Amino acid sequence: MKMYDYVIIGAGIAGSSTAYFLSKKTDSLLLIDKKTEVGDAASGAAGAFLSPLLGKPNKFKDLVTTALKFSTNFYMKNFSDCIDNCGTLRIPKDEKDEEKFHSYKDSMDFNYEQKHNGYFFKIGSVIKSQKLCQNLTKDIEKKLGYEIKLLCQDENLWIINDQIKAKNIILCTGADVSLIDESYLGIRPVWGQRIDIKTKSLFKYNYHKECSVSKSFESDEKDHYIVSIGATHHRNVLDKEVDNSDTEQLLKKASDIVQLDGAEVLNLYGGARASSMDYFPMIGKLIDSSKTLQEYPHMRHGSFVDESKFTMYENLYIFNGVGGRGFVLSPYLANELVNYIFEHKDIDSDILPNRLFKRWVKKYNK
Ligand SMILES: Cc1cc2nc3c(=O)[nH]c(=O)nc-3n(C[C@H](O)[C@H](O)[C@H](O)COP(=O)(O)OP(=O)(O)OC[C@H]3O[C@@H](n4cnc5c(N)ncnc54)[C@H](O)[C@@H]3O)c2cc1C
Repeated sequence: MKMYDYVIIGAGIAGSSTAYFLSKKTDSLLLIDKKTEVGDAASGAAGAFLSPLLGKPNKFKDLVTTALKFSTNFYMKNFSDCIDNCGTLRIPKDEKDEEKFHSYKDSMDFNYEQKHNGYFFKIGSVIKSQKLCQNLTKDIEKKLGYEIKLLCQDENLWIINDQIKAKNIILCTGADVSLIDESYLGIRPVWGQRIDIKTKSLFKYNYHKECSVSKSFESDEKDHYIVSIGATHHRNVLDKEVDNSDTEQLLKKASDIVQLDGAEVLNLYGGARASSMDYFPMIGKLIDSSKTLQEYPHMRHGSFVDESKFTMYENLYIFNGVGGRGFVLSPYLANELVNYIFEHKDIDSDILPNRLFKRWVKKYNK
């Protein structure tokens, strides 16, 4: 049985970013995915737009701002052929939204200029999503088209499908969390569709109103361009076929933003985002809920137990819950996770899985 120090399960943007940073620290690393290509689930479906979060100051906005700065610099420095930092025009949906934008002016984390009917942010970018995942994992050993059905622990080692041994596992499985039976994770799938169209319209930057419209990219036909439009939202749907009704919805919303001359739909992409209950992502070690509750049954009745006493799964880490901002959050969080594993750098309590466990015990275990 082949053995690795680290096995990452899931080769979307979360797993691919983790593989990139982890490969700087170890030579014994395997990246596994049931799909036959990397970045072929939600990550391949994504637009993928990088844009600031607007709003009054709050912790989630701070996280998105920090991650957006980190990830944009990271892509520009290392994968400049996968990012187009063309800027994004954010357009208020209606008068009420316009008032909101106005009230956010003092809390903008990025420079902007008022332009046409919206607010133009230079920091806005669009990513070639699947190509980025491929480039991030270019030098990484991979096992693709390989579904993990069985994950168990024998002494200090993890055994995968009775075929591969790993000292450490990092779960980056996105909306499919069936490998780990822990209800407190509370991952909810939000399925979505994006389309690529061919059009004669030339846009120099991205737009965002009720959907996002990318800048125009060259096509193989003279005076015709490729534009990405995303995305639809189907809450609590893990899997679904791409379809015309979502396409029509996207075209309608896009034509409320820009004029699309001679639009011809080229490709439809679909996938499920993985959202957590509180919209914050989760990275770090996982708590074994049954062992912890066995040890401290009075937790069910609200007694305080220090987090350091929780029973953790040994050598098992998770990186999930990046929701609709996987391309903004992943490089930043992957770097944080790898620093936690190798340098013992603390992870912010807002993104540790512990907070979800504590809430779950309070709510469902009385
Ligand atoms: C239509 C759409 C538009 C989007 N637009 C944007 C955007 O503009 N900007 C942005 O930042 N984000 C966007 N997102 C969100 C972004 O795509 C996600 O946040 C991100 O892709 C999640 O990455 P992930 O690696 O967690 O999951 P995934 O990309 O889903 O990867 C998880 C992988 O794990 C594998 N896996 C699961 N279980 C197993 C198993 N048992 N064995 C082997 N392999 C397994 C799966 O095959 C999959 O490849 C969009 C998403 C969608 C669907």
